[in-house]
Amino acid sequence: MCGLPTRPFHHRGLGDPSPGDYRRCHHCRLIHLDPGVWPDRETERAYYRTHENRPDDPGYQAHLQRLIEPLLEALPPPARGLDWGCGPQPVLAALLRTRGYTMDTWDPAFAPAWPDAPDSGWDIITCTEVLEHLHNPLDTLQTLRTHLRPGGVLGVMTEWPPAADRFRRWHYRRDPTHVAFYGPDTLHWIADRLGCALALPARDIALFTRSDPP
Ligand SMILES: [Zn+2]
Repeated sequence: MCGLPTRPFHHRGLGDPSPGDYRRCHHCRLIHLDPGVWPDRETERAYYRTHENRPDDPGYQAHLQRLIEPLLEALPPPARGLDWGCGPQPVLAALLRTRGYTMDTWDPAFAPAWPDAPDSGWDIITCTEVLEHLHNPLDTLQTLRTHLRPGGVLGVMTEWPPAADRFRRWHYRRDPTHVAFYGPDTLHWIADRLGCALALPARDIALFTRSDPP
């Protein structure tokens, strides 16, 4: 992500059904899958359709509450938000509306029409279970920052990687569209780069508050 050379982090070994090893950057600490085996867009979209994030699934709603609760504290409604990368079912946006937010949604595959942006930027932008799919994460995050008003909050949910000795059995990396993993070190690096204050209110949850100037 930062452009510095990376080093081998995890070799899959015999018996692993998917190709590609993982590398880690010793500067920004990002762990990423060998780019030679990243899925193309069509493969990704076909795979996303198999994800079962059903709006009426209480387990999934409880999962999203882990982001919603700290977001409510950081920037209470009324506020206008964008759920960036909402997927086929904009469950998070629907839940945030019930809490008093006005929500827009966008997704490259499932809701590609860009919403009318507020003049000064959105108050909040949410990005849940998206970062791990991105092929150019820093570009995307810098773009999201420009769509946030000063003082606005970018709420990110992505699973933090476990310690190296548990990486082999980690379920999250078995999704072939998950190409990069961000722990607290990497999230701090991103916040510095974006000119944002960072809060990590719970595991897998990051809140970036836009401070100006960048
Ligand atoms: Zn790096």
